[in-house]
Amino acid sequence: MKKDFKTPKWWIALSAFCVVTIVVFGYFFIRMGSEGLYEEKVAYLEEISKKGTQLVTEQINGYFSTLEVISTIIGGDDDFTVDSALAVLKNEMSKGFFKRMGIITPDGTAYTTDGYTEDFNDRKYFKEALTGKNATSDCLIDKIGGEEINVFATPIYHNGIIVGVVFATKSQEELSKSLVIESFSSKGYSYIVSGDGRPVIKTNNPESIGEYTNFFDVMVDYGVTPQQLSTVQSHIKSNTSGTLEYTRQGVLRQMFYSPVGINDWYVFSVVPVKVISFQSDQLIRNLGLLAMIIVLLSIIICSRMIKAFKKNNTRLKHLAYTDSVTGHPNWVKFRLDVEELLSLHPERKYAMIAFDINKFKLINGLFGYQRGDEILTFVGDVLFKNLDNNEAFCRASADHFNVLMQYKSEDEIVNRLKSIEDELDRCINNYKIKISSGICTIKERDLDVSVYSDKANISRDIAKKQNSLSYHFFKDENRIELLREKGIEDAMDNALANGEFLVYLQPKYSAKEHKPVGAEALVRWNRPNEGLVFPNDFIPIFEKNGFIRSLDLYMFESVCKLMVQWQKNFKSAKNFSVSVNISRAHLSNPELANDLKHIADKYEISQELLEIELTESAVFENMEEMHILMNRLKEVGFKLSIDDFGSGYSSLASLKSLPADVVKMDKSFLDEAEHDKRGEKVIFGMIEMIKGLDMLTVAEGVETLSQLEFLVSANCDIVQGYYFAKPMPVKDFENQIFIKDNLPTTD
Ligand code: C2E
Ligand code: CA
Ligand code: CA
Repeated sequence: MKKDFKTPKWWIALSAFCVVTIVVFGYFFIRMGSEGLYEEKVAYLEEISKKGTQLVTEQINGYFSTLEVISTIIGGDDDFTVDSALAVLKNEMSKGFFKRMGIITPDGTAYTTDGYTEDFNDRKYFKEALTGKNATSDCLIDKIGGEEINVFATPIYHNGIIVGVVFATKSQEELSKSLVIESFSSKGYSYIVSGDGRPVIKTNNPESIGEYTNFFDVMVDYGVTPQQLSTVQSHIKSNTSGTLEYTRQGVLRQMFYSPVGINDWYVFSVVPVKVISFQSDQLIRNLGLLAMIIVLLSIIICSRMIKAFKKNNTRLKHLAYTDSVTGHPNWVKFRLDVEELLSLHPERKYAMIAFDINKFKLINGLFGYQRGDEILTFVGDVLFKNLDNNEAFCRASADHFNVLMQYKSEDEIVNRLKSIEDELDRCINNYKIKISSGICTIKERDLDVSVYSDKANISRDIAKKQNSLSYHFFKDENRIELLREKGIEDAMDNALANGEFLVYLQPKYSAKEHKPVGAEALVRWNRPNEGLVFPNDFIPIFEKNGFIRSLDLYMFESVCKLMVQWQKNFKSAKNFSVSVNISRAHLSNPELANDLKHIADKYEISQELLEIELTESAVFENMEEMHILMNRLKEVGFKLSIDDFGSGYSSLASLKSLPADVVKMDKSFLDEAEHDKRGEKVIFGMIEMIKGLDMLTVAEGVETLSQLEFLVSANCDIVQGYYFAKPMPVKDFENQIFIKDNLPTTD
């Protein structure tokens, strides 16, 4: 299955959810914030406007207080005259508070501090003050000098009678400086106008409408609708405040108006709306920017996290799912792929195939391990190329590969396997790579993947044994094999406890004299109801499940016990050595040498008489570990022999470095030599070399006299085989080896 790992959907959903949440919350927060801010600003403007009116009232009342004090002083003078009054006023003028001061006599003649005499009969404020009120004018043109001014007037009482009016003038410019309120950094400004629209105090603000004679006339010119204007005027009539929005020069403005409390004056405060909203706009912009940054950061962080997550996930999955030798899927990944494919495509037919490379050990031996690994990788590459997305494969272990293949007919499977084999053959020059395949067509889909794979493995082993075809389709009869395996595993523990495992012994003879020089202990299983079972039927299973470790120790101890008996009972047994087979499954046990020594010591059997047989394939496949194990065994005094030498890939060169005492040449070696003169020469050379390394040579599987004669001529030391004796029960062995030639001891 060629597909990559994906980011989990929940992760993307979570990230999207976070971003959307930030955006939505940000939006509402900004809206609420800006609305609140705007309202606050509007309220602020209203407040300023009201403060403005208050300021005007207070200021003007202040002027009147000053005038009232002066009027009291003037009127209180018993010798009240215009001149005496002017003298007081001049004194006041020296403070520089007013532009001009003066008194107006009841006939309307005004006498000013700066020496002018004018008729003020036409001045409204004069008439009003004469009635006993404080009076102030709107914006007037000064009769002297023509400047725009405002006048404040108050009556003078002398002996309870109004004898004139005190007045003081202030220039508009000066007044507007102190009375007109500017706000929002001079962007806001105000007018003070009379109820009928005449200017009272003008403003110099450049944003303002400038010169005008009637405020209401210009308001209409400047964009206030007649409707708004009539509302304003009705408010003025009822002496109430109000607000309106209008657009002048393309600028939307907010206006507040409220009565000053003096005459019919009104303060009109204006500010462009954008000034009010400027800060809220800025806040919106800033918050928007912040939200964008947050979103952007979130996206970056999320994408980084996703990336890191993906990378980490991919790395972990790569580690967990990849075979370190080939870089292709391992068994764990294969299992998952098979489960997924079978459930995804119920309509398709699938077959589980298990194959391995014939004599792969030989390839390793001939070309080296590195080349061996390259070949395994090449096999992986070929499978990858030949399978499609809806198929799967893996290297399960060593040179064992598994494939899940789609098929329409069994012929199609065979043809595809053939073309894979053809492609593999291009891997090494002059060496034909052959594979043996077991095929299990999948019928029941809900079984565990290991069930199909077990069936395929069984079929592969059958394919290996047969000569005609390199593949075998699993048949129901093969199931019996599976059941048998299970039966063995179920029974093994009890069998060991019940003593069902027996020691059989096969004698070894000196090649020249044909004298027994030792024996090999071989296990047999005496199964109730089944009879004697041979090791080839159960040892591979025990090696897989580890039970062989217990069995080997049991055999070793049984041999020690026997030897104790023999040494007691038979003279010739004194220096008789026995070899025991020890499986490669012990390799990982650093305590093996000590354990064996402990047993030998317990029965007081000299280690010298005990020989440990380690098979060649175990030795050469795990050189480093085996070296350690052999050295330990050697250290504690056991004899060591390399069993089945020549069955796989013997390396005479590496034999040199091993602390072995004996080399047992495999039976197949002898078989080949028999038909081939060259093979004979090889054995000759080999025996010579082994002897040159100070090791004894043992020939296994000697069945004929001619083989024996050949071995004698090749100078082989020891022979073992059916020609002399088959492996036999202890009693038979004792009778044959000890009783016949040696009398039992009589002590
Ligand atoms: P092996 O260690 O190579 O033992 C020699 C095998 O060759 C024995 O088979 C023996 O019966 C057989 N044999 C001996 N002479 C001849 C002959 O002239 N012709 C033929 N055709 N065969 C001959 P066996 O007893 O069936 O044992 C098979 C294998 O099982 C042994 O091969 C050994 O690898 C393993 N084995 C046996 N007993 C034990 C044991 O206690 N522990 C372990 N780990 N492995 C054992
Ligand atoms: Ca052996
Ligand atoms: Ca052997």
